[in-house]
Amino acid sequence: MPYRLIVLLSSAVLAVAFAVIGRFLYWQTAKYSEIELAENSDKFHSIYAIQNEVLARHTQALAYSIASNAEIQRLLDEGSAAVRAEGGNGGGVHAARVRDELQEYVKQQWNNLHMQYEVEYMHFVLPSGVSFLRMNTPSYFGDDLLSTRPMLSDTVEDHSPRSGFEIGQTYAGLRGVVPVVRASPGGNERFVGMVEIGFDLNKQIEQLDKQLDIGIALLLSREHVSNVMRESYQPATSIQKNIILAASRPEVNDWLKDDLLPESKRTPQTRILVWQEKQFQLISFALDDYRSQSGTQSGPPGTVLLWRDITLQSKRLEAERTAKFLSIFVGYVIAQFGLLVLVRIFRRAWERRLKQNTATIENLSQRNALLLDTAANGICGIDHNGHITFINRAALAMHGYQLEEAMGKNLHSLFHHHDSGKQLENCPLMHALNAGKAYESEEWFFRRDGSCFPVKMTITPVCGQDSENCAAVVFHDITEQRNRQEALLQLATTDSLTGSSNRRHFLDQLEAELSRHRRHGGSASLLMADLDFFKRINDEYGHAAGDAVLSHFVHTVRQTVRRSDIIGRLGGEEFAILLPGVGINGARELAERLRNIFERTPAKVNNILIPATVSIGISDLRMEDETADAVLHRADEALYSAKEAGRNCTMIYDPNWQRSNLPKADTAP
Ligand code: GH3
Ligand code: MG
Ligand code: MG
Repeated sequence: MPYRLIVLLSSAVLAVAFAVIGRFLYWQTAKYSEIELAENSDKFHSIYAIQNEVLARHTQALAYSIASNAEIQRLLDEGSAAVRAEGGNGGGVHAARVRDELQEYVKQQWNNLHMQYEVEYMHFVLPSGVSFLRMNTPSYFGDDLLSTRPMLSDTVEDHSPRSGFEIGQTYAGLRGVVPVVRASPGGNERFVGMVEIGFDLNKQIEQLDKQLDIGIALLLSREHVSNVMRESYQPATSIQKNIILAASRPEVNDWLKDDLLPESKRTPQTRILVWQEKQFQLISFALDDYRSQSGTQSGPPGTVLLWRDITLQSKRLEAERTAKFLSIFVGYVIAQFGLLVLVRIFRRAWERRLKQNTATIENLSQRNALLLDTAANGICGIDHNGHITFINRAALAMHGYQLEEAMGKNLHSLFHHHDSGKQLENCPLMHALNAGKAYESEEWFFRRDGSCFPVKMTITPVCGQDSENCAAVVFHDITEQRNRQEALLQLATTDSLTGSSNRRHFLDQLEAELSRHRRHGGSASLLMADLDFFKRINDEYGHAAGDAVLSHFVHTVRQTVRRSDIIGRLGGEEFAILLPGVGINGARELAERLRNIFERTPAKVNNILIPATVSIGISDLRMEDETADAVLHRADEALYSAKEAGRNCTMIYDPNWQRSNLPKADTAP
């Protein structure tokens, strides 16, 4: 793999790994922040709910403190009777006097509660559900509340205290309603009206704001408030869906105006609001009122909104993220640098190793070249088409080619094809390549000048290891070996004195001819010749002269017979001549001619003519002859008869001869 690609790939893997780590840390930070926001949302919601419950109990307790006062019980009872007597919702003069008296009587307590406990609303209601006196708005009374104020109507019904949030005609807030009961002189208790206490929620939420450091606002939806109230709370715009009942911080007014606040939902919702380069966590949930608690109305009348400024926290988170990103980036840069250094170190080591290997290969190549060039054998490599891929000096020298003349040429065409008759497909080269097995053979190779010489060739396929070199061809010139073999053969088969076949070789040839004769039939004859009185020649002229006469005889035979006829020395001065394809008559003619010629041409030794004669026995080869002995025996019998007949004559084997009755010379049948 190229170096650049390795660097690119490993860098890419590293970058992806760091990107994944970065993404994970980013996700983790975001997740922690989300969890923190959700936890805060739950916490503030719970605190608010508890606070609300405590306050509700508190309103009931304060209302009790008023309702338990006997004078108030009396005045309410009297006021109720006056309104009943005088008619109309507000009653007449008497009712007005009692109202003033009640106001005057409660005034001190009202002031105390108003100042000390932030009580904002104190209301006396008659058992009929008619408003008798509102201490906060004394001029507004006489209105019938039973249809619009479930808290009051429920209390009229069961005379039990209760508390909760409720929107009224002039006041919306947390109220506690307590029945006012008067003990009659007979000991009976009578329900004479109700006392209702309500708190200033602004003050309550301001306190909570201080304790928890969160903004709190109570929003009422427009359709749930009366015209009287709507006017007193003055919504900022006419299209506003909500009015602010109470708010601990002013920014909520702008959010309302800009419609940035979330829809009211029952379950607590939390979201982030970015406003004037600040970030706020908004927690909103339904403002439950008495009606929805008692199940008489479906939707909540408003929303409780809690919020806290999380700008610093967000900035901290952002800084944390940036720090993480930076540390990851720095880590990445360091790792990338380390990677490059590492890859470089590996590359150097690899290059060093490559250099060493190259040097080793070069060394080996040089050694190979040396081995190839100093080898006495011809060595070359061929590819799968038989083309020469390398060749050594010995091979070039053997063939008389230059390196460039041989390289890339087809070995068969170059060395082997001349007059060999072998086509490329029959060449042992191709056999070895196709079979994938080593092949050894003796072939004739041709030189550049067209001369040829015998070689012993070994082809060793190497396909699979090296695609260029499919086989190694090793060969050497076996001319000398062949010559030596031939000389040895000559020595083993030839009589050294006369040059004819020796006894052993002649008998082999005779056996071969016999088996050929048995298979194919035809005719063949055997002459058995023995020089006459040879002992005398030796005695008279010496042994060496005798040898010369023996050679002369063989020479004479060669001059007389055909090239295909075979002459063998069976021993001493006894010879046999095999005449393949010659019948008995032809054999006799030939024998006679030979005898005549030998008789007429004496051997000349040291300028001395040595006359000699020969006796010849003749037999044909027969189908029934199983061994050479049979035919040799017959010819020998005939020779014997020729000797007996006086020598220097030829005789044909006759089975009827008797050794004691042999024919005279030249009377042979
Ligand atoms: P015949 O007519 O009955 O054949 O008489 P011959 O003298 O030829 O017969 P014989 O077998 O008695 O003698 C053969 C002689 O040939 C004996 C031996 O000295 C001689 N002789 C055998 N081998 C050689 C040889 O290699 N060289 C020479 N010079 N003489 C040999
Ligand atoms: Mg003899
Ligand atoms: Mg003899």
